[in-house]
Amino acid sequence: MNPNYEILFEPVKIGPVTAPNRFYQVPHASGMTEANPRVRAAFRATKAEGGWGVVTTGAVSTHPSSDDSPLPFARLWDDNDIRSHALTCDAIHQHDALAAVELWHGGAAVMNRSSRIAPYSPSGIPWAATHVGFMGQLRPRVMDQQDIRDVIGWQVAAARRARSAGFDIVYIYAGMGYLGYEFLLDDYNHRTDAYGGSVENRVRFVRELIESTKDAVGQDCGVALRISLEELRGKASDNFASQAHEVVSLLSDLPDLWDVKMDSSPTDCGASRFRPEGAHEPVIDFVRTVTDKPVVGVGRFTSPDTMVSQIKRGVLDLIGGARPSIADPFLPNKIREGREDEIRECIGCNICISSWHDGVPVRCTQNATAGEEWRRGWHPEKVSPAASNDNILIVGGGPAGLEAALIAARRGYQVTLAEKAPEFGGRLRFETSLPGLATWGRVRDYRLYALQKMGNVNLYSNSEMGVDEVLGLGHQRVAIATGARWTQALYSSLEIPKGELKGPGVYTPDDLAAGKVPRGPILVYDFDNYYLGGAIAESLAGQGMSVTYATPAGHASAWTIMTNEQPFVHQNLHKLGVDITTQALLDSFEAGLATLSNIFTGELSTLEVSSVVIVGLRLPADDLYQSLCDREAQWQGAGIESVERIGDAFAAGALVHAVHSGHAWSRGLDNPDAENYLRDIPIAEFPPGPVIN
Ligand code: ADP
Ligand code: SF4
Repeated sequence: MNPNYEILFEPVKIGPVTAPNRFYQVPHASGMTEANPRVRAAFRATKAEGGWGVVTTGAVSTHPSSDDSPLPFARLWDDNDIRSHALTCDAIHQHDALAAVELWHGGAAVMNRSSRIAPYSPSGIPWAATHVGFMGQLRPRVMDQQDIRDVIGWQVAAARRARSAGFDIVYIYAGMGYLGYEFLLDDYNHRTDAYGGSVENRVRFVRELIESTKDAVGQDCGVALRISLEELRGKASDNFASQAHEVVSLLSDLPDLWDVKMDSSPTDCGASRFRPEGAHEPVIDFVRTVTDKPVVGVGRFTSPDTMVSQIKRGVLDLIGGARPSIADPFLPNKIREGREDEIRECIGCNICISSWHDGVPVRCTQNATAGEEWRRGWHPEKVSPAASNDNILIVGGGPAGLEAALIAARRGYQVTLAEKAPEFGGRLRFETSLPGLATWGRVRDYRLYALQKMGNVNLYSNSEMGVDEVLGLGHQRVAIATGARWTQALYSSLEIPKGELKGPGVYTPDDLAAGKVPRGPILVYDFDNYYLGGAIAESLAGQGMSVTYATPAGHASAWTIMTNEQPFVHQNLHKLGVDITTQALLDSFEAGLATLSNIFTGELSTLEVSSVVIVGLRLPADDLYQSLCDREAQWQGAGIESVERIGDAFAAGALVHAVHSGHAWSRGLDNPDAENYLRDIPIAEFPPGPVIN
């Protein structure tokens, strides 16, 4: 280990328990609940195995009045939930890490769609989300004194169950718009009783939650407070630098650990396009000066130098990681073993967060094994050895081809990777040149760096493969990873792609990637609705061109609501003077005039532009595969046993899909069961009964 990094491996006392090092996997949503307890246990335990000293759950509801359905959330509502969590704790403990549980009451920020209990809130103020999937129409009740006692009682009961399950650290949650936070903020808390008014009164509910939890389990478990400080830091206080300073000072040494964060998912889990590593520091930097208790915070830390600096400068005691621990569960061990150059760094794309919004177990662009540890038996660092002497040819060095090559090579196969372009990286060659997307180059760099060090890999760039070349090489296993191409298809009012727009001045992202420069003014017409249309508009406008962005959706880059990017896409386009037209279909483009119609009303409008860039339908570029299939009769003679498509050449998708596809293909070599995965089922110890707290 680099001696500078030794400080990262010092133990830290958290109340009655001791974290073995400073790597702390903070609570983060995994999309895993009591519905898939084995998937969950393996996912969390893999991080403990990789060296994270503390591994925490995502939000664990204390009572049916904290019900986030249909979003996935875990529970400790009754004793039937204990064994499911015990499985996770035991698995974490096997690797000598501490297990922590984020007990959670959502207050007015949950809609209780399943339990149908009127949500709890300090003053009846609802959380009005802009995302239709998060909106609800049942407004919250105003909590009376009994309600306050009940919520505290549910926290205590859940804390006791957590201790029975084996958790070492128990949380109180006062962040991200949830109930504890709602009491802290005067925007939510208009109470005139002892729980409202002055900051001291507004802190009372959180104080009582901490005190009661400590009374119940504090002998055995560390008691952590997770708190959002962004809004509070902006609010003036009479005697302190801000209300955040006042709140932390009032509670100072009461919790055993401070877990400090931002207020909303887009700022807390900022996408790398818009937020650098360590972006929380200006908000949370003061906490350590106000408390003697250890402080953990996050910032998408992947550089050990940044981590050491956070500790030495007195910002944090424990290095919190959510996304970095998903992208590389073995990050701590790699630092400890002097292998920091092998860290698979998070790219900050927030696909992991989109999994939670989708209501499914976590997916990760960089780590194809995330969520697959138990059900497919995929380990992030281990692969089964090659089961034959087959030679492997992979055509196309984009994310799918690079991942397939790496996994096959790690298994010990002899691998040839052929890429027609001068550089590897596929779509990333162009996309990483767009504003904010350079960090995504880590997908290419991590894999290429590893491949270049391996003796059983031949990497060929500038090597376009045709049918004759593939047959001539005669490798037994061939993967076609030739990617996809953007089409000039338009979009219909039935919300499906329709006929192509041909003619001069019409471009696709592939044209821009090939170096063509559209003449301004430009219309970027986007019905792909992920990042690329917005990023291209931002890039062209940044080069001084006049740009209009139009989409049939309701927002620019509409799907990026799932990845926390959308507010910043709009902000950046606005700053650059890009006109945004939503609910728009592009009908035609002729003689410098684009005609748009409203997708709902059909109302027509025109726009004078010289060029149109269509970011819409993407289809597999699998011509090579099809040509090879036409000559299947020659495969055997050439020594070829199989030819398969992977990544975008099979089904066009996001980077995450390409990497997963490449990974799965190589795991599947000489493995007839590769397509199957295990189905998890809930653990129930007792017959179903009422929730008793
Ligand atoms: P994916 O996301 O599935 O990896 P990409 O489009 O990012 O797909 O990458 C596909 C890669 O395949 C590109 O780098 C492209 O240059 C390369 N490629 C396409 N056709 C050939 C070919 N015939 N021979 C070698 N490389 C090819
Ligand atoms: Fe990081 Fe993206 Fe993986 Fe999330 S999905 S952990 S942001 S690389």
